[in-house]
Amino acid sequence: MLAVQKSQPEHGLTLAEVPRPAPGPGEVLIEVEACGICGSDVHVYEWTSGYEWMTPLMPLTVGHEFAGTVVEAAPDVAFPEIGQRVTVWPSISCGACPACREGQPENCERKVTLGLTRHGAFATHVAAPAASCFALPDSVDSELASLTEPLCVSARAVETGEVRLGHSVVVLGAGMIGLGIALMARRAGAAKVIVVGKDDSVRLACARRLGFAATVDLAEEELAAAVTRLAGGKVDRVFEATGVAASVTDGLSVLRRGGILVAAGIHSRPVSVDLTALVRGKHQLRGSHGALRSTWATVLKLLAESGEEFRPLISHRVGLADTIEGFRLSLTKEASKVVVRPQQS
Ligand SMILES: [Zn+2]
Ligand SMILES: [Zn+2]
Repeated sequence: MLAVQKSQPEHGLTLAEVPRPAPGPGEVLIEVEACGICGSDVHVYEWTSGYEWMTPLMPLTVGHEFAGTVVEAAPDVAFPEIGQRVTVWPSISCGACPACREGQPENCERKVTLGLTRHGAFATHVAAPAASCFALPDSVDSELASLTEPLCVSARAVETGEVRLGHSVVVLGAGMIGLGIALMARRAGAAKVIVVGKDDSVRLACARRLGFAATVDLAEEELAAAVTRLAGGKVDRVFEATGVAASVTDGLSVLRRGGILVAAGIHSRPVSVDLTALVRGKHQLRGSHGALRSTWATVLKLLAESGEEFRPLISHRVGLADTIEGFRLSLTKEASKVVVRPQQS
């Protein structure tokens, strides 16, 4: 089968003909119908620092935001059955480490991740543990279902930030995770959501199509001035989904006393923070990464009820052979989400 792999610890990805995987005990084989290109996949493509642990695993098929149909199941698998449409929680916990034993599989010390530490879904087929599969409601098609994982990341960030009714919120970053955070914050009751990008006209236009009238392009306006103009002062919550070091300090500068800043970006460099200002401002800086099993159920329910609200997040669709072109698109700020459709040419 055709698969998109990281084969060398350097810039780029390769399209390779590889054997179709066989499901191991407790696993199913899934025919992949849609797989989204994630920001972390782009880091792997560009080979920015922070992914060196992948080197001994190469060649490795990437892709972890996917949905498809079960076409084969190991004999010990009762669910999902063949023919079941599913999406998959790509982060597989060990079940034995202290966090797993405490009932926190999301904090597993030995987790394995489809598309990052074992073969993923930029391929026609992927093998995955049956226990990681979520059945898809009929109303959720595969491309919408492929948004489940990134929307869970956004939803978990909003849970971590404890957004409440009436809050004013600044979201730094207009990519998929930032836009997802804006949507989830609005659903959590935020009265004002300001979406901020830099040189980001296409994705900020997407934010406005999603109903966020308050957008700021830092290429045109300074953050503090824009936030004062739009929110009348500092805000209750700031979410950082850029991976740009300056966004954390900028974000803290517009956070009200006692507010919470949630960092959800992957940073390739350390960030320095003025701790005295943080202490005096009684600011909390929280990290959010991945999601909980319960977040998956919440987001799938949302997609079943109002999936069309989320479809504008998908800006481009490409066939498997054009995946690398999809990565080039993702690198520009013209794409919010590129979805690869392996069963279409
Ligand atoms: Zn992802
Ligand atoms: Zn574990």
